[in-house]
Amino acid sequence: MNPIPLLDELSRRPLCCDGAMGTQLFARGLASGACGMLWNLDRPGDVGGIHLAYRNAGCDLITTNSFGGSRFALQLHGLADRVAELNRAAARVARAAAGDKGWVLGDVGPFGDFLEPIGDITADELREAFSVQIAALLEGGANAILVETMSDPAEAIVGVEAAKACAATVPVIVTYAFQKTAPGEFRTMMGTSAAEAVRRATGAGAEIVGANCGTALSLDDYVELAGQLVAAAGNATVIVQPNAGSPRTENGKTIYDATPEEMAVTAKRLLAAGVRIIGGCCGTKPNHLAAMSHAVKAA
Ligand SMILES: [Zn+2]
Repeated sequence: MNPIPLLDELSRRPLCCDGAMGTQLFARGLASGACGMLWNLDRPGDVGGIHLAYRNAGCDLITTNSFGGSRFALQLHGLADRVAELNRAAARVARAAAGDKGWVLGDVGPFGDFLEPIGDITADELREAFSVQIAALLEGGANAILVETMSDPAEAIVGVEAAKACAATVPVIVTYAFQKTAPGEFRTMMGTSAAEAVRRATGAGAEIVGANCGTALSLDDYVELAGQLVAAAGNATVIVQPNAGSPRTENGKTIYDATPEEMAVTAKRLLAAGVRIIGGCCGTKPNHLAAMSHAVKAA
């Protein structure tokens, strides 16, 4: 494990995070609808191979394969009683691949439903579920917790609170998925503006905040969004993980067209806007991240 605390390193230089995991698992034979987290135990060589491909592409931060790792998400696969085991394995596999110069981000995705009053799950129930997941990720060797692809700031805040309750000194990252709702305006699916989303996450104690994924955003949109995130972040560090361009559908398949070169140009523009962690989301592969990490290291 890298002995330098992540936030210390970020004060010195920008860092590169990794890219998409799901598509890489499918490329290695994961069946559609199957639980990719089981591969942390059953096929750790495949999961570790994906992590290593990103690490070898120059990514400093490796994200655990635990997006759907809360009990609410795992219960869809009948695995709600294996939260600790599967998340611990996810962190161990990532830890081994990250090596002594990389940092591991313990990944926490949305729990898959709405909190009260729209849904049935209370903040306390969710906090308890996230806590079990996060404790296992930290036990397995995660250096920071990444609460990602959030739409509801209330859910993001529960994630931050759960992480801070597990280990007060572990940095917490929150990323939201935004869509463009008007020229110059970005909101989450729940209608929260970029500035408000950032403010809520940093107010809860997240040290790093930003955007990943997003609905139909162009690479130019991510750069414009980044400016708004940086303006709202204050002393917090900003992370942006764009998709490989805005997707198109062909024969029922979602296709992302952005080339590694285009992603590298975008990475440079994001850095110029004040972003300190660059990574990739849907449609990005190790070759995209190799070009992007090169841009980050040249900054
Ligand atoms: Zn995505």
